[in-house]
Amino acid sequence: MTPRDLPALTVAELQAMLRRREVSPREVLTALHERIAEVDPRVGAYLSRDLRDALRRAERADVSLSLGGVPVAIKDNINVAGQPCTCASKILGNYRATYDATVITKLVAAGAIPFGKTNLDEFAMGSSTENSSLGTTFNPWDLQRVAGGSSGGSAAAVAADEAFAALGSDTGGSVRQPAALTGIVGLKPTYGRVSRFGVTAFASSLDQVGPLTKNVRDCALMMNALSGGDVQDSTSLHLPATDHTAQLGHDVRGLRLGIAKEHSRPGVDPEVQRLVRAAVDHFASLGAEIVEVSLPQTEYAVAVYYVLATAEASANLARFDGIRYGHRTGNPRDLLDLYQRSRAEGFGPEVKRRIILGTYVLSSGYYDAYYSTALKIRELIRRDFVRVFEQVDALISPTSPIPAFKAGDLGSDPLQMYLADIFTIPANLAGICALSLPCGFAETSDGARLPVGLQLLGRALDEARLLQIGYAYEQSTGWHMQRPPLAHR
Ligand code: GLN
Repeated sequence: MTPRDLPALTVAELQAMLRRREVSPREVLTALHERIAEVDPRVGAYLSRDLRDALRRAERADVSLSLGGVPVAIKDNINVAGQPCTCASKILGNYRATYDATVITKLVAAGAIPFGKTNLDEFAMGSSTENSSLGTTFNPWDLQRVAGGSSGGSAAAVAADEAFAALGSDTGGSVRQPAALTGIVGLKPTYGRVSRFGVTAFASSLDQVGPLTKNVRDCALMMNALSGGDVQDSTSLHLPATDHTAQLGHDVRGLRLGIAKEHSRPGVDPEVQRLVRAAVDHFASLGAEIVEVSLPQTEYAVAVYYVLATAEASANLARFDGIRYGHRTGNPRDLLDLYQRSRAEGFGPEVKRRIILGTYVLSSGYYDAYYSTALKIRELIRRDFVRVFEQVDALISPTSPIPAFKAGDLGSDPLQMYLADIFTIPANLAGICALSLPCGFAETSDGARLPVGLQLLGRALDEARLLQIGYAYEQSTGWHMQRPPLAHR
């Protein structure tokens, strides 16, 4: 193996080599740095990298730990002390984090080296990274297309072998949808499984950090490092540690897998439908029992999400006022002018749209019509899942209704973009866990070959089961082994 081959390794493969001292953390970082220099001008996954900081960490890395010496890319809405944390917003253009998010502390405790901050839609609002004020990330499978969003930089970095693994955040699909569009694995953990401390809040009742990886085993390894209660986040769950790798290799015979009849809906690309149907047949051939179920309230999920997520965002983003953080306008006339102009100059159009929507749904006179109604329907959606998980062990659906789209294609139509999350949003509203993994390739009419993602949804805290099911699928299909043409050298 030459240094040029190192970036293509999985986390598990790399860690085994590091542990055997066949390669040093420094050599790994150097090889990764070269790979990034070679392909990132085309992909645009990273917003910043600090090789010197990473090399310093590499000197101290304990390669006997589970992630010892493994570099991990971090979405740029997660704080890493001393590094920029822009949220891809002009309002945080000059901000540097003063402390580590708990997920960073935990990764470092497992031996990982945070290396590089990745692009996202501004404040994680979007599905394509086109809302980033710092440029679009492109899909390694077709550089005219987007990598999805909002964790598009993290997904593209992993898919293009510019990262061994990455962290993203998922409020309505932002880990799973970009994972699907770039042919990798992404998990949204159960709400409370992973601490949100130090992650820039978008919609606090929905946000969860999740890993993006090249395969299911790496996802499980990352989850072992990331999970656990945190006194700094009162919504985190204090539970005994779970070994997310424990069930890998157990077969799926006798498991009951549900398909919701609401999921065969108009607007789903025929290629996506074909591949998801084939995946369902594949699970049947592995001995799983396929059960048709119904989730009647999920029809309202996108509408409910855009009331609740914008309401919470309007409150969370109030802190960006030009005084405490980030961009401050020049020569304000008075305090109000300072607030108004700092925010007008600092936020991009999608973030403004969400603040305005959220402020509207919370305003007196409309609060009951929108916000409290949405809360009630959210509870009904949650109960749909509780009921269905009495009948099945997991649910199968597409992750995204469409494969990667061309940059610019959906940008002018926010509603079309919002519908990209139709299959991912329900898991956030219900607080359950959901895994996306590759299930084949769509052939487009213009000759592109694009990865498609399968979503597995599980009951709260059943991540290990989802990983077991995903692993059985992955090992028997091998879709995850395919790499984008960009990766061939
Ligand atoms: N695409 C969704 C949105 O724009 C979800 C984003 C996310 O999960 N952060 O809100």
